[in-house]
Amino acid sequence: MSGRDSMQQPLVKPIDVAALRRDFPVLDLKVKDKPLIFLDNAASSQMPKQVIERWVKYRSAQHANIHRAVHYLSETATAEYEAARRKVQAFLNAREERECIFTSGTTDGINLVAHGYGRKFFAAGDEIILTTLEHHSNIVPWQMVAEEKGAKIRVVPVNDRGELLVDEYRKLFSRNTRFVAMTHVSNALGTINPVKEMVAIAHEHGVPVLVDGAQAAPHLKVDVQDLDCDFYAFSGHKVCGPTGIGVLYGKAALLEKMQPFKGGGDMILSVTFDKTTYAQIPAKFEAGTPPIGEAITLGAALDYLSGIGLDRIAAHETDLLDYATDRFNRLPGVRLIGTAEKKAAVLSFAVEGVHPHDVGSLLNDDGVAIRTGHHCAQPVMQRFKVPATCRASFAFYNTTDEVDALVASIGRVQKLFA
Ligand SMILES: *Cc1c(COP(=O)(O)O)cnc(C)c1O
Repeated sequence: MSGRDSMQQPLVKPIDVAALRRDFPVLDLKVKDKPLIFLDNAASSQMPKQVIERWVKYRSAQHANIHRAVHYLSETATAEYEAARRKVQAFLNAREERECIFTSGTTDGINLVAHGYGRKFFAAGDEIILTTLEHHSNIVPWQMVAEEKGAKIRVVPVNDRGELLVDEYRKLFSRNTRFVAMTHVSNALGTINPVKEMVAIAHEHGVPVLVDGAQAAPHLKVDVQDLDCDFYAFSGHKVCGPTGIGVLYGKAALLEKMQPFKGGGDMILSVTFDKTTYAQIPAKFEAGTPPIGEAITLGAALDYLSGIGLDRIAAHETDLLDYATDRFNRLPGVRLIGTAEKKAAVLSFAVEGVHPHDVGSLLNDDGVAIRTGHHCAQPVMQRFKVPATCRASFAFYNTTDEVDALVASIGRVQKLFA
């Protein structure tokens, strides 16, 4: 995925960006009379018409509660919901479909594991390893459980390029290490972490690993069996799907040992006031009426991405990243934060003498949408000694023309502040 070794990668048929852009109605939008240039894909990506149409179809002809009734609509909704689960299984290459649990998003999936696994198995003095690159949603749930149990959090440091120090990670393991939670791709810097290697190291110590895949699932081919991670979480709204839906993959043996995170309907076998027995996975972790239409629509989004091919998406985005990095390196007064060898198409940057929020709102005047702030990753900001960055994050529907427009817009900001 890194630009530098893209020459060695097998050639893939380039995507037809112009044709794909026509699938996205929002890309025709004008902002302040200028064409929208959407470079905030790491926050939420846009939906193609195939996904929007699936949403409308569910809403207009398939909406009913699942797993309960014998009437036509309920049976249809149930079948489509379970078909979506099989799409998730194929997308992640999970061994079994029951290992794929629908959640409301990455945050929800991580909380499910922190509470379902951590609260059952952590004890005083235990240690949980996280990394400097984590999103707050892969920090705070672990802190909550650690505080309750008297466990400690250890943190893998990064170098000045924003790469995890794997040797330091090795040294963090002790007899007390019980869990590792790490991101696959950093949302703030774009670093692609050596997850497979780090999972193998944890397993040498008998420690399970949760991978936060929110930024990887949209951009690279994920294979949970190859990574051998124990848990993998991602969100629908970052893979061209809707909000309110996400996925937690977990190895069946671990999910079966865990306690449910939420109690309620649909997750039980039988209930009396003396004792409740839980349903098998995945139902055990899907209490209450799930976001049915969202899950089905997510299935359509995964079909859409797989239809293009994640390898082709990654190749295009790597080209965009290389092009943009080169343009940025030639911009005086602009500093890139996060220059890892292996990166997804995220550019975090600072414009000398201009507050990131001013950069963001002036770019908006040119129709350019970027993100400014701490990107829910304050430890990363502290590591690089900045309060905030500007972040342009690309999707496969972005073009080099849009990179040029971004660079021109930054130039205009610099002139205003000169
Ligand atoms: C967006 C993101 C999350 C949180 O996802 P939600 O959809 O808000 O639950 C977690 N981790 C990373 C790396 C993210 O980019």
